[in-house]
Amino acid sequence: MPEGIVHLVGAGPGDPGLLTARALDLLGRADIVLYDRLVPAEALSAVREGAELRYVGKDPAGCSTPQADIDAQLVELGRAGLRVVRLKGGDPFVFGRGGEEALALARAGVRFEVVPGVTAGVAAPAYAGVPVTQRGVSSAVAFVTGHEDPDKQASAVDWAALARFPGTLVFYMGVGALSSTAEKLIAEGRSAGESAAVIANGTLASQRTVTAPLSQIAARVEEAGLRPPAITLVGPVADLRGELGWVELRPLHGVSVAVTRARAQASGLASTLRELGAEVLEAPAIRAEPRAIEGEAARSLARLAAGGYSLLCVTSANGAALLMRALYDAGHDARSIAATSVAAVGPATVDELGRHGIRPDIVPQRSTSEGLVEALGTPPGPAALIVRPGESRHVVRDGLRAHGVQVDEAVLYDTVAEPLGTTAATAVRDADYLTFSSGSTVRHLVAALEGAPLSDSTRVVSIGPSTSTVARELGITVHLEATCHDVGGLVEVLLEDARGRPASA
Ligand code: SAH
Repeated sequence: MPEGIVHLVGAGPGDPGLLTARALDLLGRADIVLYDRLVPAEALSAVREGAELRYVGKDPAGCSTPQADIDAQLVELGRAGLRVVRLKGGDPFVFGRGGEEALALARAGVRFEVVPGVTAGVAAPAYAGVPVTQRGVSSAVAFVTGHEDPDKQASAVDWAALARFPGTLVFYMGVGALSSTAEKLIAEGRSAGESAAVIANGTLASQRTVTAPLSQIAARVEEAGLRPPAITLVGPVADLRGELGWVELRPLHGVSVAVTRARAQASGLASTLRELGAEVLEAPAIRAEPRAIEGEAARSLARLAAGGYSLLCVTSANGAALLMRALYDAGHDARSIAATSVAAVGPATVDELGRHGIRPDIVPQRSTSEGLVEALGTPPGPAALIVRPGESRHVVRDGLRAHGVQVDEAVLYDTVAEPLGTTAATAVRDADYLTFSSGSTVRHLVAALEGAPLSDSTRVVSIGPSTSTVARELGITVHLEATCHDVGGLVEVLLEDARGRPASA
C-alpha cells in the first residue's frame, strides 16, 4: 500500500486568484479533499474528477463537525494510504486549527505537509487599500482573535497589553463583539480617535469597507449592515485607504455577472470579468460530452484523413479539439488534412485549431452559421465534412447542399445539461447581468431554472443574433447584444452598459 499523506492547505481569503500554485497542484492530485465553509468555490473546481469532496465546516446555524472528529478522519484517511488535502480558508496556521490537526497527525505517525495560504488579516486590508505596516506609521502588527467575549472573566486576550501594543491591531472573527472590543481597548488606554477599519468579504467582489475612529466604528458598522466574515483593523494605517483604495476603481466593481458557458470554456470569460472587478457566478449550464467515434463518424474521419473532402467545416471549439484528438487517436495528425480547405465558425474555433497548427482558410465576419454559409460563397470542391455537436441547426449543411455539394456530418459530441444547485440558481436569478454565449446555454439554463423567473433587475446579455432568437423564443428579454460575436464583444457591451449604472458602495 502506498504511504498516505495529508496536506494542510490554505485556500486564501476568497479571491480565487489568491490560491497558491502549490494548492492548485495538490487539489488536482488529491484522492479526497476535506474542506471548510470559507474556501473559494473555484478551489473545489480544481479537484480532479473522481476525487471525493467532503464538507467538514461549520454552517452558519452552528452545526459543525467536532474538531476531534476531523482529526480522526485525517488520521484514518492518511493511514489508508490516500493523498488527502485538508483545505482551509486563508492560512491553515492562522486561527485555522491547522496546528491542532498537524499535532494529531504527527502523534499518529501520519505524514503531513503544510501549504501556507494568503491570510485574510493581511489580504482584506490590502484589498481595502490599507498596508498593515507602513514605514514611519506602523512598524508592528498583531493578529488577534476577536471572537471571545471581552467581558469574560478569564480572558485569553490581555487587553491592557493590546491597548499598549505599538502598532496595527488586526482582529479576526470579531464583528459580533466589535463594540465591546473597542470599549475595552479605549478603557485600557488606546486613543478613542485612532482610526479603525472593518473589511467584510475581503478580496471578493462583494467586499465592503467601513472606516471610522475607534470610538465610533461599531456604530458605523452596524449602520452599514456589515456581516461576517470581516477583519477589524485598528491603527493609523487605516487612513491610507483614502489615497490607496484601488478595488473600487475597477470598472465592474460591485457588479455581479452570471456566466453560463460550459465549464471548460467559462474560464476565459470569467477571468476577463473578474479582472474588471465583477463578481462572477459560474453556472456551468452545459458541458460537452464526447461521443464514441464509430459508424458514420469513424467512416467520415477516415475519408477526411485520406483527403476525400475538399472542405472541412468546424462549428465549435469543442468540435475542433475532439476532431484533432480523434484524428490523432486513429494514427493521423494535422498533415492528413493538408490538402483540405478548412472553415471555422468563429474566433474560439480558430484559436483551438491554431493549437493544433491549423490556420483556417475561411472565417466569417459574423460568427454564426449563416455568416459561415455566406463566407463560403461558392464552396471549394465537390464534397464537404461538417464537424458538429448532436443538437445543432442545419444551416451550414443545407447551405452547402444548395450549391450541389455532397455533405457528410461527423457528430463528435453532445451538449448536455449540468445540474444547477439551489444556491447557484438563486444567485443566477438575482445577478446584475446574465450572459448567454450560445443558444444551447439559454435552453439548458432555462431548463435548469425550472420555470423560476429571472429577477426584474437582471440584464440579459447575448453574444449574437441566433442566441438572442433562442432566448426570445423561450420568453427571455434580451437587453444587450454583442456587436462582435465573441467573448470580447460580449464583455464590451456589458462594460458599456455598466458604466451607465449608478455607482455602488
Ligand atoms: N485561517 C483563516 C482565518 C480563519 S478564522 C485566515 O488565515 O484567514 C475566520 C475569520 O477570518 C473570519 O471570522 C474573519 O475574521 C476572517 N476572514 C476570513 N475570510 C475573510 C474575508 N474574505 N474577509 C474578511 N475576513 C475574513
